[in-house]
Amino acid sequence: MPVSDSIRSRICENVRNMSSYSAPRAECAVKLDGNESPYDIAAEFRRDVFDRLRSIEINRYPDPEAVSLRAALERSESFPREGILLGNGSDEFIQMIVAALTGKTGRVLVPSPTFSMYGIVSLALGKEVAETELDGNFDIDVADAAETIRCEDPDVVFLATPNNPTGNSFSEDRVLEIVGRSAGVVVVDEAYFDFSGKTYLPHVEKHENLMVMRTMSKTGFAGARLGMLFARPELAGEMNKVRMPYNINSFSQAVMSFVLERPEVVREKTDLVLAERRRLGGELSRLDGLRVYPTDANFFLVEVADADLVFDELVKKDVLVRRFGNSRRLRNCLRVTVGTREENERLVSALVGVLSAQVGL
Ligand code: PMP
Repeated sequence: MPVSDSIRSRICENVRNMSSYSAPRAECAVKLDGNESPYDIAAEFRRDVFDRLRSIEINRYPDPEAVSLRAALERSESFPREGILLGNGSDEFIQMIVAALTGKTGRVLVPSPTFSMYGIVSLALGKEVAETELDGNFDIDVADAAETIRCEDPDVVFLATPNNPTGNSFSEDRVLEIVGRSAGVVVVDEAYFDFSGKTYLPHVEKHENLMVMRTMSKTGFAGARLGMLFARPELAGEMNKVRMPYNINSFSQAVMSFVLERPEVVREKTDLVLAERRRLGGELSRLDGLRVYPTDANFFLVEVADADLVFDELVKKDVLVRRFGNSRRLRNCLRVTVGTREENERLVSALVGVLSAQVGL
């Protein structure tokens, strides 16, 4: 039933006019659409995690400042804890950043194409979104970005590196140039850091307008919703004002304490994904009728002659990937997450069948 006119008139116009983030949950046996880790916690570690969960007092609020977790991160990342915030996934930070740091021009700058939540959150909060088109290699077009920064003076610039959904890392000198040219805050989103190994964390000390975001979602803990933000303490303090007091629930805090105490759990899974990424990349590049873009993340962007058709045929073969309906540059692109060896083999053999029935690129 549609919303009544009376209620509709109360919905903010910018919200009425926007569409929501779409992450369809089609039921396919091979799920390669969400950039999650294909590996759950190994059996030998499950007991440790579940013992921690069992001892939680559910009647009590969690530690509102997650003190011990932030102290552990201070040690592991050699970063002062006053500058570290935890979020309900890094998505929550996007909301906090736009809510707290868009006070001058109310404008946010994002590259195109990139992760859609930056734009969605900004529009939902009534902000203006400016875009800078990435170049032919999906790297930052510094001239265009600099000109947009000069004209629009965005309060916030979001740069995901590696970028989603293109998979590449931006050139470091270009990212730093944007940091230097921006009077507003530049958020470097390192959601895929574990697969690229490249970080801007050491630069935060040098630039008061630089923040780094990370997440545990891509390395095996998407269900716990845990994000990390690193900024200069003064800026983190401002952001902390818009954080909900108990944003990291007790269960997630317990999971994070396990992850921080056992870093080898993440490292082992990441190494497996990296080995599979190498193998799958080789297999995909040998397929006719498909172009595979270079990646630094746990997924590949691929281009085919007709993405909708390939997507539908893959679903019929029980393989789910991500497509990008109305996006101009990604119209015939699909994003495929690196899965387990078996899942990747199923993807490749499904693609061989689908593409052999297609006109090539
Ligand atoms: N940033 C980027 C670039 C992403 O791709 C994602 C996940 N799709 C996120 C942030 C959000 O991650 P989280 O699960 O931590 O909210």
